[in-house]
Amino acid sequence: LLEKPKESKLVKKMRAIKNKIMVMSGKGGVGKSTIAANLAARLAERGYKVGLLDADIHGPSIPKMFGIENERPGVDEEGIIPISVTENLKVMSIALLVEDRDSPIIWRGPAKMAAIKQFLEEVSWGKLDYLFIDLPPGTGDEPLSIAQLIEKLDGAVVVTTPQDVALLSVRKSLTFAHMLKVPVIGIVENMGAMKCPHCKEKIDIYGTGGVEKAAADFNVNIIGELPIDPALAEIEDMGRVHLEGDKDLEWSREFSKIVDSV
Ligand code: ADP
Repeated sequence: LLEKPKESKLVKKMRAIKNKIMVMSGKGGVGKSTIAANLAARLAERGYKVGLLDADIHGPSIPKMFGIENERPGVDEEGIIPISVTENLKVMSIALLVEDRDSPIIWRGPAKMAAIKQFLEEVSWGKLDYLFIDLPPGTGDEPLSIAQLIEKLDGAVVVTTPQDVALLSVRKSLTFAHMLKVPVIGIVENMGAMKCPHCKEKIDIYGTGGVEKAAADFNVNIIGELPIDPALAEIEDMGRVHLEGDKDLEWSREFSKIVDSV
């Protein structure tokens, strides 16, 4: 008789989470972590139990955005305890487990994947309504392995700027999600426009139309368009992403819209 394979630690932990959403981008620096962090914070504000997993080990900016970069996660019999930044929001980043925060993480190949796997298995989220996973940029081995380790992802949010290079890679991200059979919730266009601080006129820095075309070609929606706003970057630098609430600012209204689509 064949014995039923034992359920893996990770699968068991992930079963207590209702919606697992990966946030991806074709390249770095387009605002993937910004979107992941704000989506998580805004949904938690609405009363959902939310987790945010920073799996982008080479650009781990998430702890700083919440002002928890000096915290050290505790451990109990269930595993690593994520940091509770508000009543409803838990955050965990591999950066919080690294001893020397100023050195780059230089694991290579298999050692790195083993570390990521162990990290994913050990974080004990408990019951959550949403878990956002901030994936490493691109469509290479790392994001692929992480997405495959967390089976049955419920959705993907793809972040891009409207520049040509970013757009080429957004098409790869959409194909990646499709191959993994993860439904795309939508594309967020970030840093496409800026408002002139003097005359308030909107300036489309990179031109328009490219993101629309990619969305139409792949039959997905654009769920948000965030302007460049120095206030947004400043809030992140101050570690206050979870404290800002739904203010009456353009980016904050745009985030409310994005959250409505998730
Ligand atoms: P990624 O995760 O794609 O590497 P980040 O979210 O870390 O990108 O963003 C890169 C930098 O750009 C950060 O300093 C962030 O504060 C800034 N940034 C992101 N989006 C905006 C925006 N809409 N307006 C102003 N600054 C932004």
